[in-house]
Amino acid sequence: MVNDFADVRPVYIIDATDRIVFVNQAWSDFVAPARGAGPTLSEVIGRSIWDRIPDGVVRQLWELLYSRVRAVGGSVFVPARVDRPDERRLIDIELRPLGDGSIRHICEPVWREARPAVALLDPSYPRDERSLRCCMWCRRIQVRLGAWEEIEDAQRTLQIPADATLPRLEPEACNTCKQSLLKTFPARVA
Ligand SMILES: [Zn+2]
Repeated sequence: MVNDFADVRPVYIIDATDRIVFVNQAWSDFVAPARGAGPTLSEVIGRSIWDRIPDGVVRQLWELLYSRVRAVGGSVFVPARVDRPDERRLIDIELRPLGDGSIRHICEPVWREARPAVALLDPSYPRDERSLRCCMWCRRIQVRLGAWEEIEDAQRTLQIPADATLPRLEPEACNTCKQSLLKTFPARVA
C-alpha cells in the first residue's frame, strides 16, 4: 500500500464486500469538483462503493465487471470520461484483483483538455423536474432514442439555454458503451 500512497495516479481499493478500504490523495484531488476540496478519508473509508455509483444499469455493469475480475483473477481496463465543467478528461481504469476478493482501481490519465465551463456539469447549479440521460462512461447525452451527443452538441440540439434552472443529468449507459463493457473480460492468468 505504501506505493499506492505515493502513486501520482488516483488509486482506490474495495474489499470483497465492496467497501472502500483505501484511497490516495491523488484520488481525492481527482474526484474533487473544480471548486472546493475532494472528499476526506473519513467520508469514504469503510463506505460501500455503491454509495458512489448510481443504481440501475450503471451499477449492474460495474457488478458484472467486478464479478468477472474476481472470478478470473485477471485485470480489465475500462475507459471512462470523467469531465469537470471546464475540462474534458479521459482515463483508463485498471481493475486489478488482489486475491482476497479485493480490487485495486488505478486511474491512468489518458487525455485532458480545457474548455469553457458547461453549466450542466456544475453540481451547484439549480435543477428542475426535467432530466437528460447521461452516459457514465462516455459522458454523452441522449438527444433522442438511440442518439447520443457530446454535451456541448446536445445543448445545441436540444436548445437548452443558459437558464435559471437546468435539467438533471440521469446516470445511464449508452448502447455503445454498454455493448463494449459487456464484451470486457479479464485475461485469464496462469
Ligand atoms: Zn457511452
